[in-house]
Parts: sequence; C-alpha cells; structure tokens
Amino acid sequence: MLSIEALSHTYGALTALTEIDLEVAAGEVVCLLGPSGCGKSTLLRLAAGLEPLQQGRVRLAGEIVGEPRFTVPPERRRVGMVFQDFALFPHLTVAQNIAFGLADLPKAEQQSIARLWVERIGLADLAGAFPHTLSGGQQQRVALARALAPSPRLVLMDEPFSGLDVTLRDRLRDTTLALLTEARVATLLVTHDPDEAMRMADRIVLMQAGRIEQAGQPLDLYDHPVSAFAAAFFGSVTILKAHAENGQVVTDLGRFDVPVQSGPVTMIVRQEALHRALEGGVMATVAAARSLGREHLLSLMLGATAVTARWVEGRLPKVGERIPVTLDRHRVHLFPPEG
Ligand code: ADP
Ligand code: MG
Repeated sequence: MLSIEALSHTYGALTALTEIDLEVAAGEVVCLLGPSGCGKSTLLRLAAGLEPLQQGRVRLAGEIVGEPRFTVPPERRRVGMVFQDFALFPHLTVAQNIAFGLADLPKAEQQSIARLWVERIGLADLAGAFPHTLSGGQQQRVALARALAPSPRLVLMDEPFSGLDVTLRDRLRDTTLALLTEARVATLLVTHDPDEAMRMADRIVLMQAGRIEQAGQPLDLYDHPVSAFAAAFFGSVTILKAHAENGQVVTDLGRFDVPVQSGPVTMIVRQEALHRALEGGVMATVAAARSLGREHLLSLMLGATAVTARWVEGRLPKVGERIPVTLDRHRVHLFPPEG
C-alpha cells in the first residue's frame, strides 16, 4: 500500500534521512523505531505529504503521490494521521471531530458513520462532549476514530501513546491494534519505545541517524541483531569489550567464535543470558542484588567481569554469595566495532 523508495532528506546542512526504502502492506502494522532525532517524524511527514520531497519517491497503492517537485496534498492521499498531542479540534464535539474527514458525504451519512465510531471506541455517551472535557485516553481514541472514519488506505501515527500514563497506555495499545486490524488498513507507527514496537508491530524498522539499521519481524530483531546498536536498543544489556585472535575471543564468560580475525570486539550480554545452574555451571559472585518484586536485578561477577542479570526464579541472593550459573549463548551477541 505504501512504498517509499530511495528517500533522502536534509534540513540545510543537517542530513535527516539517507536512502530510505520502506514498504507497508494493507493490514500490516509497521513500527518505525529509533532514538530521538533519528528521523522518524520526518519520514512520517514525508509519507503524509506534509513536506515536499527532495529526493526519492512515495507511492500509495502503486500511484506516485510524492517525488521532487510533485506532491499530492495530504487531504487527497486518503491517509489518516494521529499525533502525540492528538490535535483534536477544540471547538468541535467528539462526533463532529470524527465526522471531520467525511465532508464529501451527505450529512445523514456523516452522522451515521460518526455514530458507529463513537460506539466502536466506547464513547457513545460523550458524542456531544468537547475535547477539553475528555481524559487523555478518551482523546486518543477520538483521534484514532477521526483518522479511521473516512476509510483511509494508510494510517500514520507519531508516538500516539507517549503522552499517556503507563496502565492506560497498555490498554489503549490493545484497543488501537484491534481497531486497526479490523479496518485492514496499512499502518506506520512511530515510537522510541522498543517494548511498544515489540508489542504492536508485524514488522519493525529500526532507525539510527537517518538510516535504516535493521528491519524485520520483532523477534528476528531481538534474536538476530545485525549490530551492537540493534542488540542494545532492545532492553537493558551489559556491553563488554573483548579482543579477537584467530577468529575467537576468550572471556570470563567463555570462548566465542566471532566474525573478526583479530582486533577489538563488542560483546552484548542480555539480562536473561545468565541463569542459576541446576547442575554444573561456573561460580559467580553476587556483587549487587535488588528485588523489583516480580524479578530480581543482580550484578554477577564472573572472574573480573561484571554482568547484569534479571532473574524471575527463587529467592533474592545475598551480596557476596557464590552461585553456580550457566550462560545462554543465544543471548550473547558479538560485533566488530561500529563505524
Ligand atoms: P525523531 O522523530 O526521530 O525524533 P525528527 O524526524 O523529528 O526525529 O528529526 C530528525 C532530525 O532532523 C533531528 O536532528 C531534528 O533536529 C531535525 N529536524 C527535524 N525537523 C526539522 C526542521 N523542520 N528544521 C530543521 N531541522 C529539523
Ligand atoms: Mg519524532
């Protein structure tokens, strides 16, 4: 449905995006993930037609809607948008906000579609209310309904949950996903939160400094990161430096084959890599231990190397205690230095 080809973008001397290729199919939710400033919102704005394209091409359902010196305006792209601040019209009611994109239809049809949507988002009682009287979560749902009511081909969402508190966010992600799935619309959702992307995406496009670092299914990125950046972006990790010789590194965690004959190597150890050994294992010393309730956060010394571990099982170990541990080698990733 959406196809972006070889898109690059600059703001004066600053390069915001470099050679971006990206596709989103109908019914698919793709998350653009990356740290602040990596170009996610710029890419979304260019997909929407809110800024003129400098280089590359944007197609919707095969039709060119943006290329240098040619822009189909946003309102003629059949694209729905949801922003972080929701941007509802303050002087319009909930029902009027939802009907906003339906101006081409007869009045009666506008009203019946708006009625359908206020029910779908569970706000039938508030159809006549004004946005400022609604909670953040209610406003988010109205913004989503307004985006979906005109049956768009593509929905673009820029950090649509980040202004909301944690418990509400979880619920709204599920509601949003259900509505998007039901609409069978192509969705491009921007977030800087890896948990949110893991939870919502069919596919994640991870960006760094204006480039696509890695794209694929959520678990693929988690299990097979292509770089130290990609490995460290998902969840907390311990980053260690090692030195390769003859295609191997020898560390306090064991011996590993690496894609480097000799030279420095970055080793990323996920927090779930170290387990309490049921039998065998090597001895680790507990350097720090804190229970987070559901799980324990430990700093374990293996020789002279400190590794952070997150354990769900058992009692909280004491500082100084010696514990036999095993290493899940699939949760350790090794890379040549970046750049
Ligand atoms: P993200 O959404 O990933 O945080 P943005 O797309 O907003 O990143 O910004 C990417 C880069 O482009 C940043 O360095 C930002 O400061 C810069 N930038 C974004 N919009 C503009 C603009 N209108 N004028 C100048 N620089 C901009
Ligand atoms: Mg942004």
